[in-house]
Amino acid sequence: MSVKEQIKSLRSELHKHNYNYYVLDDSSISDYDFDLKLKELKELENLHPELYDSNSPTVRVGGDITKNFATTTHNSPMYSLDNSYSIEDLFDWEKRIKKIVEANIEYTCELKYDGASISLSYVDGKFVKAITRGDGIQGDDVTANIKTIQTVPLILQENYIKEFDIRGEIVMPIEGFKKLNLERVSAGEEPFKNPRNTASGSLKLQDSREVSKRPLECLLYSIVESSGIVKSQHESLEIAKKWGFNVSPHSVLAKSIEEVFDFVSYWESNRYSLPFEIDGIVIKVNSVDQQNELGFTSKFPRWAIAYKFKPEQSATILKSITYQVGRTGSITPVANFEPIDLAGTVVKRASLHNSDFIRKMDIRLNDHVYVEKGGDIIPKIVKVDISKRDHLSTKTNFILNCPECNSVLKKIEGEANHYCINTSDCMPQVSGRIQHFISRKAMDIDGLGAETVNLLVENNLITNYSDLYKLKVENILGLERMAQKSSEKLINGVEYSKQISFDRVLYGLGIRHVGVTVAKQLAHHYNNIDALMCASYEDLESVDEIGGKIAESVISFFSIQENIMIINDLKFYGLNFENSEKKIIKTNKLASQLFVVSGVFTKFSRDELKLEIEKNGGKVKSSISSKTSYIIAGDNMGPSKRLKAETLNVTIISESDFIELIK
Ligand code: AMP
Ligand code: ZN
Repeated sequence: MSVKEQIKSLRSELHKHNYNYYVLDDSSISDYDFDLKLKELKELENLHPELYDSNSPTVRVGGDITKNFATTTHNSPMYSLDNSYSIEDLFDWEKRIKKIVEANIEYTCELKYDGASISLSYVDGKFVKAITRGDGIQGDDVTANIKTIQTVPLILQENYIKEFDIRGEIVMPIEGFKKLNLERVSAGEEPFKNPRNTASGSLKLQDSREVSKRPLECLLYSIVESSGIVKSQHESLEIAKKWGFNVSPHSVLAKSIEEVFDFVSYWESNRYSLPFEIDGIVIKVNSVDQQNELGFTSKFPRWAIAYKFKPEQSATILKSITYQVGRTGSITPVANFEPIDLAGTVVKRASLHNSDFIRKMDIRLNDHVYVEKGGDIIPKIVKVDISKRDHLSTKTNFILNCPECNSVLKKIEGEANHYCINTSDCMPQVSGRIQHFISRKAMDIDGLGAETVNLLVENNLITNYSDLYKLKVENILGLERMAQKSSEKLINGVEYSKQISFDRVLYGLGIRHVGVTVAKQLAHHYNNIDALMCASYEDLESVDEIGGKIAESVISFFSIQENIMIINDLKFYGLNFENSEKKIIKTNKLASQLFVVSGVFTKFSRDELKLEIEKNGGKVKSSISSKTSYIIAGDNMGPSKRLKAETLNVTIISESDFIELIK
């Protein structure tokens, strides 16, 4: 056998195994043998790049990078679906279509997969392109990413038509989603919110190798072709399966609208037994001739309708309201109710957000309440059944004192929450600030967790995060669960954290509204903590992405004497309070020149531009004065700045003038 034939035979064999495994759910080869054959193919392909095939089974592992997803027009529009929410709505729909179609109508009932819709194009039995739905007319070309999904056939099995599109949904099965989140959390990353957003987000990752690691699945439900071989929706699902596509086994052909109702109600109560999420049922007129008779409105086909499940709701009784104190002293009321089963999990708590929410809902102890779990998995109270109250029911009064330290709570103007302002002695605040400081995205201290922090605080060993650096093994040895080894690990972890970069230290300080991104921005802009501490409100506000709320919070943090003392201690212990990558001075061309930057630029971001000025010896100021040497004006320079520049006779230059200047 020639190499060419050998490669061809390996490819077709592997495609077949893939189909058996992922579509027929019947594996015909052991994983081990499969991997061996794949490896053999890969090696042959490496030796013979002239035999490259963009649809080889080896492309599944990914590797292509897409920087910009090309906007691509669909061969035929991807319509959305009309929605219905009740049996009556479905009856109405049937009435509407029966006015147009006289003959008896049969329906296919399918699950409405909750993921990201996709359109796949095939030519001569080969996968050529994948486009997201986008606005229905145009979507993004995500071909490289889609190729990594095992259930998308790259080569079809049999009897395909020359050219067609097939539409379906990319979903992330629940088990895979949970596993992915476990991995993320243990790597210190934010968990994803829900499988649907994760699936659609995954399609837009730039690195297809990353996509190949995501547990995605493609379920197909509609062949779009013009040769006329597909006579009915039900049949088309059968054909799609034969060709090698992954088609859900749960679709049925219903002879009447009553049979449709049976299907709907069956899945309304059994949806949580499926391996992936569905948000309803899709009902389609089965006959393609009848579909053509019915046609489309401007938005959706008249021959199909989605039946949307209600978010699952359940009634229970409110047992108590407790109050949690956050790291910043904010008070969150929490409803505790009799446990209920909701969307597959047991739920016994829901946030009541703040006093306004309680007042608006008029929630009281022993109330019968309805709890709902929407797409975002967080349970919420949506209704109070006032008719079930007795005469003893009394209005809920929001607490006046902190549940932890008893100090009087304050409501800050313009904020929804109450606050405990006893920042220095209120245990959850003291401990919360330290917990934030040691968290993964901040100092990431190995060997120290929330419980140990509580233990250290309770034992008066630490009262703020700088105290961590005073700890010695002998101080902690003998505390609960703290043997020699774990004590050493903790101390080493603390020591090691001195390496952490300035932006993360800044984030760790726990300044309100200064999250990871803002901390990076500030660290980058100011370069060291002293510059940041001196910054005025106006100066802070002129930094990209920093608004008034953040500016105010930064100023207020540094106006507290205790915070300054803690920072001084941390400096003394050797933490990073300036960027280590020193600005590399390239030239001295702009020495002793003062610049003001205003507007939006095309070649640089504002910060890059400022950095460029500094690298060439210049200085950047936020406001114009008679000392200003140049104003670099981008698009949308403010009119008041322009007026001021003209009055003071300061030279205004463009971005390209600037580039000339430093050339
Ligand atoms: P909506 O996004 O609520 O307008 O619903 C329309 C979307 O439902 C379509 O764009 C598809 O992505 C999705 N969908 C999920 N399952 C199916 C199915 N079996 N048939 C048709 N569309 C479906
Ligand atoms: Zn308190």
